[in-house]
Amino acid sequence: MQLTVNQSIASSAAAGSPTCRFCGCPLHHTFTDLGMSPLCENFLAAEELASMEAFYPLRVLVCEQCYLVQLQEFVSPENIFSEYAYFSSYSDSWLSHARTYAGKMIDRFHLGPHSLVVELASNDGYLLQYFVAQSIPVLGIEPAANVAKEAVRKDVPTLVKFFGLELARELARKGTQADLIAANNVLAHVPDLRGFVAGMKVLLKAQGVITLEFPHLMRLMEGSQFDTIYHEHFSYFSFLTATRILGSFGLTVFDVEELSTHGGSLRIYARHDADDTHPVSARVRELAAREEAAGFHRLETYCSFDEQVKRCKRSILAFLIEAKAAGKSVAGYGAPGKGNTLLNYCGIRTDFVEYTVDRNPYKHGKFLPGTHIPVFAPDKIRETRPDYVLILPWNLKDEIAKQLSFVREWGGKLVVPIPEVEVLP
Ligand SMILES: [Zn+2]
Repeated sequence: MQLTVNQSIASSAAAGSPTCRFCGCPLHHTFTDLGMSPLCENFLAAEELASMEAFYPLRVLVCEQCYLVQLQEFVSPENIFSEYAYFSSYSDSWLSHARTYAGKMIDRFHLGPHSLVVELASNDGYLLQYFVAQSIPVLGIEPAANVAKEAVRKDVPTLVKFFGLELARELARKGTQADLIAANNVLAHVPDLRGFVAGMKVLLKAQGVITLEFPHLMRLMEGSQFDTIYHEHFSYFSFLTATRILGSFGLTVFDVEELSTHGGSLRIYARHDADDTHPVSARVRELAAREEAAGFHRLETYCSFDEQVKRCKRSILAFLIEAKAAGKSVAGYGAPGKGNTLLNYCGIRTDFVEYTVDRNPYKHGKFLPGTHIPVFAPDKIRETRPDYVLILPWNLKDEIAKQLSFVREWGGKLVVPIPEVEVLP
């Protein structure tokens, strides 16, 4: 596929018609339209419930030129990320994922006290702490001051900044370049995609390696995971499109792994085009061929998704209507971003789900944005004994089902909403 990269992206965006974040082509095609939704991490305090709440469009578009699936930027990242409620360390399975990753990178790329590992969007240091434990120098870059403070407490040096080309140049000028750049679940959240990728190129040593993890668009579509769409999540990548974007900045994808995280993610490995120490693996060619076979190089494939999402909404509502008609009580488990997309799009409020619980104390006593469902500590489930517990972070359903096995004591059942409603046995 040939691509023409339009250099005048900023000016066309300013003119008001949406253009592709990567190639600048005007965007005409809808991937899915989830209507109006509040920012999914804007939890409300009780005294805010009677105030006006800002809702923004959640209409996802697909570029007919490069097939980047994307959301236009309505809210500046400064508003979204300056105080972030998501602390990575509150999820056990995520921590274990991070520990495994660190061990694997140290072995594969022979990292040691002479190396530097930089993580972009390093959150509370959940990942870099495992390199620090092996005496490998690290640098975290994280725009949210509240989570960065936690990282520093874990001895993870952290710059409280947004990463982009300018910061990369500044670091490189001071002699700071990375042997390993980890950018896990951040690429999707970056409005200035081009500046971010260009920055990674500058920050990378001549024989350094970049690993990027992001939810795999192919899995999102297969699994009807429309709830992973939210305002903070600007881009949705197929392997083909991600490879093309990196390629346009002189970075070669030389390996790829398919992971189960976030409903199905990719971890791609990239290096400078000129670095021949890492040959391109067969897995790269195999996945590219598989995506082509699935139609990811054709616009129709993307445009069929909206109807699938509507079917999913009807099945979730049908389940809840039937449960409530039978006099059953329903509580939620978790207050993740994806839960807020799902609840707002489906119009589920306390009429269907009385409350939800979360392990993150930051969210206790608050209310979900838009739907105003109250959030409590997990003990609330034992106290109120609901008939059904709707697991909102379905990507962690196995871990959560184990934690919640006690609901069987009173005949309660666990329910997963995606890809279709499933009452767990
Ligand atoms: Zn494009």
